[in-house]
Amino acid sequence: MTISDSVPQAAVLDVRKTFRWLAQQAENQGADIFVKTNVKDVIKNQNGDIVGVSANNPEGDVSFFGKIIIDSSGFGSVVCKSMGFVTQWKRFGAGAEYEVRAENVDPETWWLMVGQKYSPAGYAWIFPIGKDKVRIGVGIGKPESSIDPTERLKELMESKPGPIGRLGKITPIEFHYGLIPNDGLSRKTVYNNLILVGDSAGQANPLVLEGIRYAIKFGRVAGRVAADALKSGKTDESALLPYEKNWRKEIESKIKSAGKVQDRWVGLSDEEWDKELDIIKELTAEEFLNFIKADFGLSNMLKLATHHPKLAVRQLFGLVKGIKK
Ligand SMILES: Cc1cc2nc3c(=O)[nH]c(=O)nc-3n(C[C@H](O)[C@H](O)[C@H](O)COP(=O)(O)OP(=O)(O)OC[C@H]3O[C@@H](n4cnc5c(N)ncnc54)[C@H](O)[C@@H]3O)c2cc1C
Repeated sequence: MTISDSVPQAAVLDVRKTFRWLAQQAENQGADIFVKTNVKDVIKNQNGDIVGVSANNPEGDVSFFGKIIIDSSGFGSVVCKSMGFVTQWKRFGAGAEYEVRAENVDPETWWLMVGQKYSPAGYAWIFPIGKDKVRIGVGIGKPESSIDPTERLKELMESKPGPIGRLGKITPIEFHYGLIPNDGLSRKTVYNNLILVGDSAGQANPLVLEGIRYAIKFGRVAGRVAADALKSGKTDESALLPYEKNWRKEIESKIKSAGKVQDRWVGLSDEEWDKELDIIKELTAEEFLNFIKADFGLSNMLKLATHHPKLAVRQLFGLVKGIKK
């Protein structure tokens, strides 16, 4: 099934270039960037509050001190874990992805593939990143499925079902693997002198397990709130609370709604997916994108839930908005 539009509604991000661009922006603002530097532990004051981190790099051990520390260490959450504030995420997605050179690339189309063959609890994807390059990946929900996404991805690249087959000859260039939290917004994200952001805060949209937008957006909010707190001379939890209020106001209800749809999707059989796709194909490109982006705050979601000509679509959006039909 294809959803398309006459004007581009979505783009594939060159994530590496984006990260370099962000790093450059930080440097331009006066930040010092240390690479190959591994944070091992936290440094606390006599009250038990964080005042720095200890790390090592190829030259040896190194310590960093700060009035405010921002934990943006991703899934591993090394800082808040070392503080004893959190434990490992229990529910998460495991993702494996190959960047490949392919014979036949349609640079205008990206694919999401669902069903048992692709992922027993999640989805597979093809994102074009150039005229002859795509990223092919598989995401699998844990603990819902014990299947290893790397194994499943290799099987798919060999058996080449559906749109993977249409890529023709595939030559792997690079492999990526990682874990993405899927435990809802269960973590508190401000403590005395400490802010959690991005995957470390669990700020991921559970529908497609995407977190880059949120990590960038709320990273900026964290920076702003931290700067204000420093100026005011108060860096305790209450001074950093505006950060938590800001991001919760922005995404908490959307993520909760997305969680309901995820619960509906995660256990679907292939037959049930076919029925679900019959509903999804009724959506315009914009509606579909808002839907998978978990952009449910828009009033048109409510309109869809009450006025869409198809009952099944009204039911799907009713679920999102908590309306029973
Ligand atoms: C295969 C895969 C595909 C994905 N696809 C998408 C997608 O298409 N769209 C999307 O929005 N999201 C996607 N995601 C999720 C996305 O990558 C994350 O949500 C996002 O990167 C979170 O950003 P972050 O800055 O919080 O964490 P990260 O991007 O994980 O960054 C954490 C950083 O901290 C560093 N770090 C960790 N521990 C330490 C330590 N001890 N010392 C020093 N540094 C440390 C890491 O090296 C890393 O640079 C995908 C994830 C995976 C695994």
